[in-house]
Amino acid sequence: MSKLLDVIIIGAGPTGLTAAIEAVRHGLSVRIVDKNDARSIYSKALVAHARTLEVFHDMGLVDDVLASGQIFTALNIYDQNKSMARIVFEELDWKDTLYPFWLSIPQSDTERCLEEKLNQLGVYVERKTELYDIKQQADFVSVTLKQADGSHETVDASWVIGSDGARSTTRKLVNLHFEGHADDEIFILADVKIESDLPEDEGYNILAADGVVLIVPLPEPQYRRLIFHMPTLRPDQPPDITLEMLQELMDKRTHFSMKLSDIGWTSHFSVKHFVVSKHRQGRVFLAGDAAHIHSPVGGQGMNSGIQDAYNLIWKLALVQHGQAKSILLDSFETERHQVAENLIKRVSMATQIITTNHPISQSLRNRIGNILINTDLVQNQLGRNVAMLNIHYQESPVVSQDVVDDLSIKKVLHTLSRNSNDFHNAPKAGYRAPNVIIQADGETVRESLFDHFHGIHHTLLIFMGQEDAASMKTLSMIAEHVKGQYKAPIRPLIIANKDYIANEQSPSVIVDTNNRIHQTYRAAQSCLYLIRPDTHIAYRNQQLQLDALTKYLDRILI
Ligand SMILES: Cc1cc2nc3c(=O)[nH]c(=O)nc-3n(C[C@H](O)[C@H](O)[C@H](O)COP(=O)(O)OP(=O)(O)OC[C@H]3O[C@@H](n4cnc5c(N)ncnc54)[C@H](O)[C@@H]3O)c2cc1C
Repeated sequence: MSKLLDVIIIGAGPTGLTAAIEAVRHGLSVRIVDKNDARSIYSKALVAHARTLEVFHDMGLVDDVLASGQIFTALNIYDQNKSMARIVFEELDWKDTLYPFWLSIPQSDTERCLEEKLNQLGVYVERKTELYDIKQQADFVSVTLKQADGSHETVDASWVIGSDGARSTTRKLVNLHFEGHADDEIFILADVKIESDLPEDEGYNILAADGVVLIVPLPEPQYRRLIFHMPTLRPDQPPDITLEMLQELMDKRTHFSMKLSDIGWTSHFSVKHFVVSKHRQGRVFLAGDAAHIHSPVGGQGMNSGIQDAYNLIWKLALVQHGQAKSILLDSFETERHQVAENLIKRVSMATQIITTNHPISQSLRNRIGNILINTDLVQNQLGRNVAMLNIHYQESPVVSQDVVDDLSIKKVLHTLSRNSNDFHNAPKAGYRAPNVIIQADGETVRESLFDHFHGIHHTLLIFMGQEDAASMKTLSMIAEHVKGQYKAPIRPLIIANKDYIANEQSPSVIVDTNNRIHQTYRAAQSCLYLIRPDTHIAYRNQQLQLDALTKYLDRILI
């Protein structure tokens, strides 16, 4: 009997393509189908955020994506004709990411890079193939596909991923529902050639009384995406978007001298905020727009879908390979459902603020906005938060930490002073593990901590702290123990302090010559951090407690 297919992916948008690449990378057999006969040519999602670029780095396609995009250098915000704020992205406090910017790249190019990568891995999207039916069995799922000629094929697979967009057939077939609300606010958008003196790599947000205008750079010289809020249009009035209409809106709502020509893709959308009741039904998962949709404010939709897929597949693979317990896979739903709900709350509020029509509310918005947007705190939050670098899974049942709860006066003072070595203030379990540049030549990063995390393994960071070379025996013993104990791949990495003199080079030891890794992880004493394959912290322990680490690992991994 032939071996059951591990996973079938329905829909080859950015979410499905990411899931398929991840599936191959994690050693799963996969098929991916799409009802359309070709990849979408529309520019839809225009910004790839820093966290998405980190994910693409791990997947091995970041260079292609960077080469196809253009760095978006600044966002200028206007209250009608008056400048309110100028956010220069490279001046924000991005902390540790290697991608401290917004990358403008049409979704069609992001999808092209993803599909080319998938093809390099030997998997091709089966087009003109539509999901027709799903029947869940105890140990597998029977999926019926309908081909363009009307014939049907039934495929049995261990798992199904429904990444078939907002109108997901998968969602309907497994009886899951969207919950949320639709606002009647209409936006129109167009990709247009613009002659103007304004820098091409900057964006503009004009809070005009007649409706907000957004101008976003496109990688093609002189072309930009225009987005207009149309407060007087209703969802049942599809607008006829013409060059004349766009020019008139631009002249009326902004003070910029811009000559528009060569109108490309146009579209309109009404704002909807929906999240699926559950991200999973048995052996069927929902990801991307199939699981959540929201207003494009902040450019989060495509980025979220890609991260759903990235969160899901390593867990699915470990469980499918018999290397992890089902609790790990269950956490996809807990972690990503929470993220989707939080995102919808934030984006919904931001959309309400920018689309307010009442003159008093607009005046209040612009006055308060003027103050807030010019604070470092808000600007920096705009950087890391919008880039999804601050997303965490602290409430997840599969993350844990053992931190000494010492309430002595000394300890409290120590904590209050936020001493840089305080483990309590270090990145917590569930958060994205911070990156540290280990070696650089000027602008070129030769080695970063993330290079050690990339791959399909967990990484156990074993910090030497202030101990001397004699402690290496204990650190190595912990390293050896976790290496051999589990079917799931765990790669130990000893972080020795700067005083340690290695007799010989070892790939599992980094000498922290400038103490940066110890400082970033607040490792004043020897301690442990277990990093998941998606670079989030699975577990941390303030001490070298092998029994506590083992207890954690036994609960999650096999
Ligand atoms: C006008 C517009 C502007 C946007 N701007 C932004 C932005 O600036 N930033 C941002 O992050 N996001 C933006 N988005 C949202 C972004 O485009 C989506 O979030 C993203 O496309 C979701 O990707 P996905 O792969 O989950 O779904 P989709 O891209 O919708 O892909 C779903 C795929 O499934 C296929 N499919 C559907 N049904 C079936 C079936 N029954 N069988 C087989 N295949 C099927 C479809 O053909 C499609 O290829 C925008 C969207 C629109 C419409």
